[in-house]
Amino acid sequence: MNDKTILKGMIEIYQNEFMCGYDGPDKDELRIIFLELIVHATQYINDFRYCSDPKCPCSPEFGIGKLMRNHGQKINSVLFGGAFGLSEVPMRPIRDFLNQFINEGDDETHDD
Ligand SMILES: [Zn+2]
Repeated sequence: MNDKTILKGMIEIYQNEFMCGYDGPDKDELRIIFLELIVHATQYINDFRYCSDPKCPCSPEFGIGKLMRNHGQKINSVLFGGAFGLSEVPMRPIRDFLNQFINEGDDETHDD
């Protein structure tokens, strides 16, 4: 599955499964996380960058990594956990795509 297909899948899951199918009390919080993931993934896949350093805090790798470290459990289990049961988009490749960034930008600070 190529990166563009991953992005298409993320957007479809957001618009259909999540927005129409998710009804948890944390929907507003998860919605922001989901949208930020889509923005960073869009930047990464299209190479939209402010500078060329993938370790820089402005990089999409850093942005995805930070979201995965702070919210990875919910992202992997709720947003792309397959619990909605409707999507034709395979969620495993999306999880693999996102999880590859989990250590990006985590070289210096360990404040968890
Ligand atoms: Zn930068």
